Amino acid sequence: MIEVNQLGKSFGDLVVFRDIQLHIQSREIVVLVGPSGSGKSTLLRCLNGLEEPDAGSIRVGEAAWDASMDAARKKQAIRNIRTLTGMVFQSFNLFPHMTALENVMMAPTLVKKMSRAQAAEIGESLLAKVGLSQKKNEYPSRLSGGQQQRVAIARALAMQPQVMLFDEPTSALDPELTGEVLAVMKQLAAEGMTMIVVTHEMKFAREAANRVIFMSDGKIQEESTPEQFFVQPKTERARKFLRQIE
Ligand code: ATP
Ligand code: MG
Repeated sequence: MIEVNQLGKSFGDLVVFRDIQLHIQSREIVVLVGPSGSGKSTLLRCLNGLEEPDAGSIRVGEAAWDASMDAARKKQAIRNIRTLTGMVFQSFNLFPHMTALENVMMAPTLVKKMSRAQAAEIGESLLAKVGLSQKKNEYPSRLSGGQQQRVAIARALAMQPQVMLFDEPTSALDPELTGEVLAVMKQLAAEGMTMIVVTHEMKFAREAANRVIFMSDGKIQEESTPEQFFVQPKTERARKFLRQIE
């Protein structure tokens, strides 16, 4: 489903990562961890076309980007990749002047040129899926953080992505609100969505992930099952990281 080869990204003199290889199967749940500044967000942003890598290649489903393509093909490749990947951020990023339902309907009507009626139907079913039918006409300012994040998940799903990318989706939430968001993510995982999740929620990783990837110093240092990673990490770097987040 996702194939990343020799991917590199720098900002000026700062090499964020180089030579990243990543192969993710359909329906796989991958949790990405690593110290602050290790490039987790940048990698997700590259996978979603929000950031352009400087080297290597990315394939998501049938869409492929390669650093050797000319500018026009790259642009089209990024557009294709973007329609296949849904992204959820730490800060929910809802449009404040739109209701929950309008937030979910926006991309399908604007990008997919869906009729309002059809987008509304899909929007309502997605809000039901995340447990927010009752709140469809509320504006974000009148929703709790957990509710806003669930709307953001519904909004990402409205484009019918093949892959969902989550960048610390519960880090901005009060502890009592993280559970409802994680529950929605677990449900998506159980339904067979392919997901990459940056999170410090080790319980989620243990319960839902097929694989944990540990990034540090610009590289993927370790890939393991959650059991292996949390109980017996292979590298000293990972052991140190785990001691710090405990
Ligand atoms: P955190 O756990 O704190 O979210 P992270 O692993 O997500 O960290 P990134 O946000 O990917 O790390 O950042 C990786 C490095 O790239 C950091 O040193 C950061 O300062 C730098 N960086 C990220 N975005 C930019 C940008 N647009 N311009 C310049 N440097 C950037
Ligand atoms: Mg980050």
